[in-house]
Amino acid sequence: MSRAPAGAGRNIRGAVGRRDDVSNYWSIHLPHLLQPNGTLAPFTGRGLRLAQYWAAIVAQASNYDEPTTLRCRRRPGRKPCARLLTIFFDVDSNDVLWFCPVCDDQGRISGWEDTFWDNSELTESRSG
Ligand SMILES: [Zn+2]
Repeated sequence: MSRAPAGAGRNIRGAVGRRDDVSNYWSIHLPHLLQPNGTLAPFTGRGLRLAQYWAAIVAQASNYDEPTTLRCRRRPGRKPCARLLTIFFDVDSNDVLWFCPVCDDQGRISGWEDTFWDNSELTESRSG
């Protein structure tokens, strides 16, 4: 399964997909960003910030009881967008989807279940 050694400075481009027809669309399979112990792989710089951002999106999405507080990380025209993200689920695949209503940053995160950022069991067990 894991061919890539968990060395330093992995390039995040190899772990995520981008659609050419939608400039700001990210497609992420969360396990691709993780080490065998479940923590984020040692990305550097921008890659690390992106990985942390996506992990935070999963944590917010799966925490059903809490309103979204996560803000857009993009800086169109070098000004922080900082708009509140809209986060929801794909009803068919259970993927986490997000988009920014202002700058169109958007994407899909699959395989987030049972990662460190999956809060769904916490919230589900409370209502049972
Ligand atoms: Zn934005």
